Amino acid sequence: MSTWTEHERAVVDAVPDGLFIGGAWRPAASGARFPVEDPALARELRTVADADAQDARAAAEAAGAAQEAWAATAPRERGEILRRAYELLLERRDDLALLMTLEMGKPLAEAKGEVGYAAEFFRWFAEEAVRIDGGYQTSPDGKDRFVVMRRPVGPVLLITPWNFPLAMGTRKIGPAVAAGCTMIVKPAEQTPLSLLALAGILREAGLPDGVLNVLTTSRPGEVVEPLLRGGIVRKLSFTGSTAVGRLLLEQSAEQVLRVSLELGGNAPFLVFEDADLDRAVEGALAAKMRNMGEACTAANRLYVHESVAGAFAECLAARMGALTVGRGTEPGVDVGPLIDADGRGKVDELVEDAVGRGAKTLVGGEHAPGDGYFYRPTVLTGVPADAAMLHQEVFGPVAPILTFTDEDEVVAAANDTPYGLVSYVFTQSLERAFRLGERLDTGMVGLNKGVVSNPAAPFGGVKQSGLGREGGTVGIDEFLETRYLAMPLS
Ligand code: NAP
Repeated sequence: MSTWTEHERAVVDAVPDGLFIGGAWRPAASGARFPVEDPALARELRTVADADAQDARAAAEAAGAAQEAWAATAPRERGEILRRAYELLLERRDDLALLMTLEMGKPLAEAKGEVGYAAEFFRWFAEEAVRIDGGYQTSPDGKDRFVVMRRPVGPVLLITPWNFPLAMGTRKIGPAVAAGCTMIVKPAEQTPLSLLALAGILREAGLPDGVLNVLTTSRPGEVVEPLLRGGIVRKLSFTGSTAVGRLLLEQSAEQVLRVSLELGGNAPFLVFEDADLDRAVEGALAAKMRNMGEACTAANRLYVHESVAGAFAECLAARMGALTVGRGTEPGVDVGPLIDADGRGKVDELVEDAVGRGAKTLVGGEHAPGDGYFYRPTVLTGVPADAAMLHQEVFGPVAPILTFTDEDEVVAAANDTPYGLVSYVFTQSLERAFRLGERLDTGMVGLNKGVVSNPAAPFGGVKQSGLGREGGTVGIDEFLETRYLAMPLS
């Protein structure tokens, strides 16, 4: 049976132990712990503290107590903490990437890429911290003066998913620190280790006690609901599924919390007859296979013009079939395991459903060998419109190809979903690219590009894909309130 090397064990064992509350590591009040699994081996990697409502209260009190002093720190000081944390992340990139691969499964090269991407959010928001602006205004009748200022919203609750264990954390922690908010972070149950390591780094970078609190838990409902209803937390920033986001939006209504939601997607990927096909195949590989297809931005429906569909499908199937599936820690591996048995089971069901309705498997369509939750990269053609995989996130390495003949038809099909996170368009016509950039009902559009994520750009969706934006110059706004002072001036 495969197991971990001494170095891998050492990296996992070095992760701080416990909940991080008020600047100190401590066990859960109940003493409970829960297991974290390595999905490549389907074995327990480590245990972590299992918080309950009592720990949640302690974290909220710590965040509440630290808020006023933290809001009063100099923006430059907050920026420099982020900048130091950015440097530490890059210095420790190899170990952080290994840790991420062990708890989540993605290949090491992708994990290293994510550490870099995660670190960039800290660099970006280090630069934004000192650019929070305000204004001075004369009232229309000339009698009053208004001073407009931006204030931190207050303690925030940040909830992250398992698919990007580090970057989904820094994308929220970065702007919260820059804005002067204290926070409680609840990472996903499957991947808490990267976030715990990040908490250690932020502490080393000089983040004051109580500003960041981390609760790992196997009972998310028990921990999160009292935080949302408790009166200390002033904002929720959530990344995860639409179903859970909707539930938390309801729970946030009681205290009328500010809410940012980054939810699920069902991204259409459009290839027109005039597209550069090599580029489109490269783009499809990136949009489909990044993170084994376990991304909210993953191309979920590939619409290819019928005149080029055969060539595109053949080429994509050849490239997908040549990818190496295996443990992400091993050299040469392109595709790691899926996150768990349920995740792979869902992919099985969706593929069986499509094939049962008449889709043809060009490559893959089955598990790959190994102890973990491996699935072969898969290309399906002739997927009928009622196949379940076209209406929900596959979250696996499966590319369903459909054909179209005209632009209006494909735009209608692409927009026929309650989701609206991202879409992709491959065409050499500048005019068509711009036109579709306006017609596709998604928060982001990749034009001849299979990856749109960038810390300097406003990431987010419309419709049931979410509320608010992360990153870019607007990312910090989600953590700021506008206040104005009014004064008569004679
Ligand atoms: P999820 O099941 O919604 O979980 C997300 C987070 O919510 C986890 O920390 C989870 O904790 C927590 N949670 C689950 N049930 C909860 C409850 N009743 N109360 C409070 N918190 C609860 O989603 P996931 O499976 O981890 O992540 C995949 C989803 O995230 C996909 O839909 C994907 O599209 C979306 N996503 C969106 C973006 C974006 O930016 N739009 C980015 C990445 C992922 P546990 O881990 O303990 O269940």
